[in-house]
Amino acid sequence: MHQVQMSHAKETYPVGKIICLGQNYLDHIRELGSKVPDRAVIFCKPPCSLLANGGVIEIPEYSNDCHHELELALLVGKTGKHIQEKDALSYLAGYGVALDLTLRDIQSEQKSRGLPWEIAKGFDTSCPISDFIPADKVSDPNNLELKLKVNGDIRQHGNTNQMMRSVEKIVAEISNFFTLETGDIILTGTPAGVSRIQSGDHLEGTIEQVGSLQVSVA
Ligand code: MG
Repeated sequence: MHQVQMSHAKETYPVGKIICLGQNYLDHIRELGSKVPDRAVIFCKPPCSLLANGGVIEIPEYSNDCHHELELALLVGKTGKHIQEKDALSYLAGYGVALDLTLRDIQSEQKSRGLPWEIAKGFDTSCPISDFIPADKVSDPNNLELKLKVNGDIRQHGNTNQMMRSVEKIVAEISNFFTLETGDIILTGTPAGVSRIQSGDHLEGTIEQVGSLQVSVA
């Protein structure tokens, strides 16, 4: 995928950087047995990790434990650096439904050795993503229900009001590290309930006011 689509419009955006925030929901930090980080946990996925709605996830053969992480995605609409929280929402063109697929076994191994996570989180198809809904269609991005079903069973059910960092704070903080540019995508972290997916599973993620995402596992 080299571009993402705005739903209800013909507009497309060239894909830029995909920047992800980790450990943004307390209940998810607890389920992994991690400590609350004292600064934002930020990592990137390459553009070839994107998978369009309706696509097929390919779990790499070097892992036996691929987890789903349902996340609100932000689409950046204009360039900014050192963005103030009060201005942050004006930099967003839209909101989408994303999965931050994670090879938990590989991630744990990399963490324990002090190594980067990209091979656990940036593999091809590790970032299924829906079309984006224009930002003005979402009343409050910090109060949206998220739900992920696997084969019809609810696995994750949360609300963006449980995020430790608000959407505004995430945009402001990330823009201190990276210049944000049109077409950049930001993933905002996952609530509790992450678990293993396997061949043949069907995943359906929905976020209130934003839309839905359906993918399956090869
Ligand atoms: Mg995540």
